[in-house]
Amino acid sequence: MEHPLLELKNIECRHRGIIAVENLNLHVNQGDLVCLLGPSGCGKTTVLRAIAGFQPLHAGEIRLRDQRISYPGYTLSPEKRRIGMVFQDYALFPHLDVCGNITFGLRDLHRAECKRIADEMLEVVGLSGMGDRYIHELSGGQQQRVALARALAPQPELILMDEPFSNLDIEMRERLSNEVRQILKQQGTSGILVTHDQHEAFAIGDQIGVMSEGHILQRDTAYNLYHSPANRFVADFIGQGVFVRGTLLSPDTVKTSLGTISGDRAYEWEPGSEVELLLRPDDIVYDTDGPLHAKVLQRAFKGAEILYTLKLEDETEVLSLFPSHHDFQVGESVSVSLALDHMVAFPV
Ligand code: ATP
Repeated sequence: MEHPLLELKNIECRHRGIIAVENLNLHVNQGDLVCLLGPSGCGKTTVLRAIAGFQPLHAGEIRLRDQRISYPGYTLSPEKRRIGMVFQDYALFPHLDVCGNITFGLRDLHRAECKRIADEMLEVVGLSGMGDRYIHELSGGQQQRVALARALAPQPELILMDEPFSNLDIEMRERLSNEVRQILKQQGTSGILVTHDQHEAFAIGDQIGVMSEGHILQRDTAYNLYHSPANRFVADFIGQGVFVRGTLLSPDTVKTSLGTISGDRAYEWEPGSEVELLLRPDDIVYDTDGPLHAKVLQRAFKGAEILYTLKLEDETEVLSLFPSHHDFQVGESVSVSLALDHMVAFPV
C-alpha cells in the first residue's frame, strides 16, 4: 500500500509546558486539499508550524514521504522539508519586484531558468505581465497571488496556508479561495489550509478537520460535517441551526413539540431517552398550508434567501430559510412545515 504524503501520528505540542495540541492524527495523500477549521486558539497554527518544522514535538511523529521529519528531540529544519508556505501577512519582500519575490527560493537556478519559472507561475496565478511591478503597486488580492506563486515556484508537493485570505474583503476572499483550489488541483499539489472561516474551508477543502482544544473532532467532507456532525461541537460550529428537545420513540423516530419526526438514521439509545434534535434552517420550509404557525422574530436578508428567526406557537425558536420573494416583516405570522432529510440527534 502506498504511504500518505504526510502523516501526523499522535502528535503533542506544548507552549511553555502547556499542551496546545494533543494526540492529533492527520494524513494527507498526494493531491489532497485538507482544511483545519476551528475557533481561535484551538491549535491550528501550532499544527501547521509543526508540519513546517518551526514547532518541535513533545510526543508522536510526523512523516513526510515516509521519512520521519519530526519526533521528540528531533526537528528537521524547515528549508530541508521542501514544503511551500503562504501566510496571512504574505511576507513578501518590498525591495524586490514580483519576479524577484517569486524566484526568491530558487537561488541555485540560472537566471534564464528563473525568469521562465516566474513567467509560468505568473500565468498560473493570473498575473501575466506584472513581473516587474513592486509589491506596493499591487492590490491585496494580487499580493496574495504573488505569495502563492512564490510558494509554488520550487514545485513543492505540499503547500501550507495559514489564514491566507483573512486580510481580503469577502468578495475577494471567495474568488481567491476558488482560484487557489483550481490552481492547486491543476498543479497536483497537496495543500493544508488553516482557517476559522468555514466558507473558506468549504471552498477549498476536499476534506475538513474540525478542531477544538488541540484535537481534531471530525474529519469529513463539508456535506457530511453539515448533515452528519459527529458531536454537538461540530453541529454548533458548522452551519446554523437550533436544537429542540425530544423523546426517542424508536431508533429512528423522535417526538418533539413540533411533531413526531422520523429520519434516515437509527440511534441505539433506549426508547424513551431524552435527545436534542438538530434543526437546520433548510429543514423548516415556507408552506402556506403548513401545520406549524409562527411569528417572525428576526430577519436577515441574504440575497436569494431570507433567514428568518421564527417563534412557534409553543414558544420554540427555530431558523428558516425562505426564498427571497417571501418577504415578511418582524411580527408577521407565517406558516411552515418540516422538511427534514437528515435526522441528527444527540443525547441530552
Ligand atoms: P488563531 O485562529 O487565533 O490563530 P489557532 O487555532 O491557530 O488560533 P494556536 O496559535 O495554535 O491556535 O494556539 C493554540 C494555543 O497555544 C493557544 O492557547 C495559544 O494561546 C497558545 N500559544 C500559541 N503560541 C504560543 C506561544 N508562542 N507561547 C505560548 N502560548 C502559545
